[in-house]
Amino acid sequence: MTTAPAMPLEPSFRESVDIMFNRAVALMDLSPGLEEKIRVCNSTYTVRFGVRLRGQIHTFTGYRSVHSEHMEPVKGGIRYAMSVHQDEVEALAALMTYKCALVDAPFGGSKGGLRIDPREWEEHEMEQITRRFTYELVKRSLIHPSQNVPAPDMGTGEREMAWIADQYRRMNTTDINAAACVTGKPINAGGIQGRTEATGRGVQYALREFFRHPEDCAKAGLTGGLEGKRIIVQGLGNVGYHAAKFLQEEDGAKIIGIIERDGALFSEEGLDVEKVRQWIGKHGGVADYPKVKYLKDGATVLEATCDILIPAALEGVINMGNAARIKAPLIIEAANGPVTAGADEVLRDKGTVIIPDMYANAGGVTVSYFEWVKNLSHIRFGRLQRRAEEARHQLLVDELERLSADKGLGWQLSPGFKETYLRGAGELELVRSGLDDTMRAAYQAMRAVWHGRPEVHDLRTAAYIVSIGKVAASYRAKGL
Ligand code: NAD
Repeated sequence: MTTAPAMPLEPSFRESVDIMFNRAVALMDLSPGLEEKIRVCNSTYTVRFGVRLRGQIHTFTGYRSVHSEHMEPVKGGIRYAMSVHQDEVEALAALMTYKCALVDAPFGGSKGGLRIDPREWEEHEMEQITRRFTYELVKRSLIHPSQNVPAPDMGTGEREMAWIADQYRRMNTTDINAAACVTGKPINAGGIQGRTEATGRGVQYALREFFRHPEDCAKAGLTGGLEGKRIIVQGLGNVGYHAAKFLQEEDGAKIIGIIERDGALFSEEGLDVEKVRQWIGKHGGVADYPKVKYLKDGATVLEATCDILIPAALEGVINMGNAARIKAPLIIEAANGPVTAGADEVLRDKGTVIIPDMYANAGGVTVSYFEWVKNLSHIRFGRLQRRAEEARHQLLVDELERLSADKGLGWQLSPGFKETYLRGAGELELVRSGLDDTMRAAYQAMRAVWHGRPEVHDLRTAAYIVSIGKVAASYRAKGL
C-alpha cells in the first residue's frame, strides 16, 4: 500500500515573515546578536476591557505590539477584525519596521488590533469601544505623539482616528502636539489631504515605476505600459478601491475581476470600479450586481488569467493550496502578507514577479509621515509658498506675452497650459509629489539589489536586504 505524500505544512503569517527575514539575512553580513535583536518583537501588550452596551458588559480583547524602537515614535495601524490575534499583530508590527525603513519614514514598527466585528455594532457603540481601547493604550504611552502613533488599517478609518485623537486630547489637555498622536484623521480634525487614498495611490505609483523598467517587465513576461493591462483585485475596501479606481481612470488599465467577501465579479470587457463600489455600499456585497458574471466562490478568481493580480484584502490568501494554479505573471501585494512563505517559493520557481507588501502598500505610512510632520509644524503644506509660486509663474507668462506682442510674433500660450502652469501646488499636489518621489526612490533601491546581486532572485528578498540594512545601521549608530 502506498501512502500519499504529506501535504507540506503552511507557515503562519508570523512564521512567513520570519522565513522571509531569515532568507534575506542569510545573504547579509550581520552579527548573530544584531540579527536576533532586529528579528524579535520588543513587546506586545494585551488588554481586555469591558464596555457596558445594550444593557450588559461586553469584554473586548485588544493588542498593541512594538516590534522595533530603533527610531521613535513607532508607527503602525490599528485593525478591527474578529481574526485579530497576537501572532498576527506581531507579524504586522515587524512588517511596519521594515516598511518604514524601506521608504525612509523615520519610525520604528508597531501594530495594534482589536478583536471585533465592526459591522455588529452601531456607530455610537463603536465610539464607546474605541474610546475605551484608546484610554487603555494612552495610559501606557502606547498612543503618544513622540512614542507611538497609530493609523487606520483593516476595519478602521478616519472616523476611528478622529475618536482616538479626541480621546488622547481629553487625557492630555495641555499637549500642544496632541493631534500628532495618530494619523489618518479627517481633514477637519488635523488630517492631511490625500491620506485616505494614499495606500491605493502608492500601489498605482509602484506599478507605474515598475512599468518604467522594461527589463523588470520582461522578467514577468510583460511588455508595454499599464494601458490595457488586465487586472484582478481582491478586496474593494480602502486600498483596493483606490488602487483599482486610479489604475482604471488614469492609466487605462482594465479591471476584469473584483473579489469581495461574498463572491467575485468577472468581465473580460472590464468592470466599472466606481459603480461596483457604490453597489457594495448599498447592498453590502457584490452578489446580484447586474449584467456581470458572478461567482459565489470568489477565491477561484485569484486563479484566473490576467496580467496583474492585486490582493488587497487580507493575509494568506495565496497559499500552498492555490499557488501552483495562480496564472498572473505579476502580483502586487497591496494587502499585508497576502502570499504565504510557502506560496512565495512556489511562485518564485514559476517565475512570477511579486512586488512585496512592505513596498507596495507603503503609501499609507508615507503620507501618515507627512501628516505627523504637518501636525507637529502646525501649518498646512503649501500655505506659505503657494501664492508666491503663482506670482512668479505669472511674471514669466506676462513677460513671454509682452515679448511676443513687442516683436509682433503673435504667440499665444494655450489656455490649458496657462491654467496648469499658473496654479501653485496645494497640499494635495505636494502630498502626491512626495509620495511619488518616495515610491520611485524605494523601488530603485530594491531593484539595485535585485539586479546588482546575483544571489538575490526576487524583489522581496531585495526589499528585506535594503530595509534590514538600514535598521542595522541605526542600531549600530546607537551603540548596540
Ligand atoms: P478595508 O477594511 O477598507 O477593506 C478590506 C476589504 O476586503 C473590504 O472591502 C472587505 O469586504 C474585503 N474582504 C474581507 N475579507 C475578504 C475576503 N475573504 N475576500 C475578499 N475580500 C474580502 O481595509 P484596507 O484598509 O483596505 O486594508 C486592506 C489590506 O491593506 C490589509 O491587509 C491592510 O493591512 C493593508 N494596508 C492598509 C493600509 C491603509 O492605509 N488602510 C495601509 C497599508 C496596508
